Amino acid sequence: MIPEPGAPVTLGAAPQHRFECSRAGCRDAADSAILWRNPRIHSEDRRKTWLACSAHLETLRGFLAAREFPLEIRSVGDLDD
Ligand SMILES: [Zn+2]
Repeated sequence: MIPEPGAPVTLGAAPQHRFECSRAGCRDAADSAILWRNPRIHSEDRRKTWLACSAHLETLRGFLAAREFPLEIRSVGDLDD
């Protein structure tokens, strides 16, 4: 569906950025996505996705790595489908 030019966006509260950092309190645009899984509660094919701005990528990655969760870093551009 192609929106008409100038049509207002009314689908709920529009986020400031299409991909917003998942870090609590951060409203920056995310440029990385962390795909991760908690092996204790998620089955083999489940993935959680966190989005991270450049400032918080290491924070979020470190949080998961400290728990030894399997994770994978992607660019948000790879999330498009
Ligand atoms: Zn952030």
